[in-house]
Amino acid sequence: MTVLIAGGGIAGLSLALTCQQIGAPFKVFESVKEVKPLGVGINLQPSAVRELFDLRLEQHLDKIGVRTRDYGMYTRTGLEIWTEPRGAWAGYGWPQYSVHRGMLHMMLYERLLERAGPNCVETDWTATGFENKRKGAILHLKNGAGEIRQENGTLILGADGIHSAIRAQMVPDEGPPAWGGYVLWRGTTRARPFLTGASMVMVGYDAQRFVSYPISAADPATGEASINWIASIKLKQGDRWRKEDWNRLARIEDFLPHFRDWRFDWLDVPDLILSSERVYEYPMVDRDPLDRWTFGRVSLIGDAAHAAYPVGSNGAGQAIVDARKLGAAFLKHGLTSGALQAYEDEMRPITEKVIVTHRAGGGPDGILDMVEERCGGVFERIEDVISYRELEEYAEKYKKTAGFSIAELNAVPRIVPEGARI
Ligand SMILES: Cc1cc2nc3c(=O)[nH]c(=O)nc-3n(C[C@H](O)[C@H](O)[C@H](O)COP(=O)(O)OP(=O)(O)OC[C@H]3O[C@@H](n4cnc5c(N)ncnc54)[C@H](O)[C@@H]3O)c2cc1C
Repeated sequence: MTVLIAGGGIAGLSLALTCQQIGAPFKVFESVKEVKPLGVGINLQPSAVRELFDLRLEQHLDKIGVRTRDYGMYTRTGLEIWTEPRGAWAGYGWPQYSVHRGMLHMMLYERLLERAGPNCVETDWTATGFENKRKGAILHLKNGAGEIRQENGTLILGADGIHSAIRAQMVPDEGPPAWGGYVLWRGTTRARPFLTGASMVMVGYDAQRFVSYPISAADPATGEASINWIASIKLKQGDRWRKEDWNRLARIEDFLPHFRDWRFDWLDVPDLILSSERVYEYPMVDRDPLDRWTFGRVSLIGDAAHAAYPVGSNGAGQAIVDARKLGAAFLKHGLTSGALQAYEDEMRPITEKVIVTHRAGGGPDGILDMVEERCGGVFERIEDVISYRELEEYAEKYKKTAGFSIAELNAVPRIVPEGARI
């Protein structure tokens, strides 16, 4: 009776920690030989942080991340449009964290090995496909040396990210992820944090955007923190870009000219870019929503199930919430295909809405485009361009779509009840 998890990223490890918590036997197969702290900064919304706290990871999160205080929208001329408090400052029962993805990944990995033993994750094994059997499922695996093997389990979860092999078998004609014409450049820079010291900002508009936030506390000796930033540009129709790869290094000259004049008294964008240690590029891709994730005893979780444009600060958080919903389904239905179906029935419609909303420009950044269209990013008073009410309603609408509503989250009981065992 084992849950086989293909992929040991944020989704796979959160699911493994959940299985360990509720006493469901599991095994993770991860394609890389060595788990390393890759990526740059990400955000964890209170809905996901709540789940990590329920996994007894609060202290560990505080060691690696920053409790995000507020979130501000600014025009490309540096004028403030809207700022709202975040996490506990906004009234949630839990904080929002800004954190380095690689440090979050390593923290989940180390805690899992500590709690479930060193053999629960097998690295250097890539999932290549699956088979449903009458009483279980078989995961096909291949290692770096080309050896192949099969693993028998009760259920299989494809947690193998945006290029999922499990999904490819379910939807053989799908092809590569869909590109929306935007390229993201991502980096971290040692610098003094801006505004409150724990502020997240989004500057510009659809065609030219800059997002930044600190992902470490400031060093008391230097006053400097690790500042994450993402610059994005919309290319002209018909332009092409290199294939997506989270680890591809970039050339600053490809995008710096678009941000050369973005020097504000509260943030110097060119300086932040030029002082970065390393810059990565990533063409903004997503996947079409699927009309099913579950095939018998096999289902999908995280980006393998629902990769959306990374504009709403919720890719990793959604993966964590998926894992917890699966845990709750296992508790209710046992390790059965019915549990997979119950999880899918709840999560697929929610994540589909997020994919569609992000594609249509309806993410939190939609406010920037409204202001740019109305005044070209220049105004004396923001109230002359857009009312406070409109701004507030827009922000609340996105929170509802993505499952971040303050009142709803605070009111719902724990997804995995304390002490529950399968
Ligand atoms: C190296 C890397 C860097 C990233 N950097 C960023 C970033 O800077 N900003 C950002 O917003 N998002 C980043 N992401 C994506 C982000 O982690 C996910 O969008 C989100 O956390 C959802 O997590 P996931 O576990 O579904 O997918 P992922 O985090 O992508 O994890 C998938 C895991 O599955 C493994 N895998 C892939 N194929 C197979 C297979 N066939 N068999 C077994 N294992 C397999 C991968 O090695 C990976 O560990 C990164 C992902 C990766 C893998």
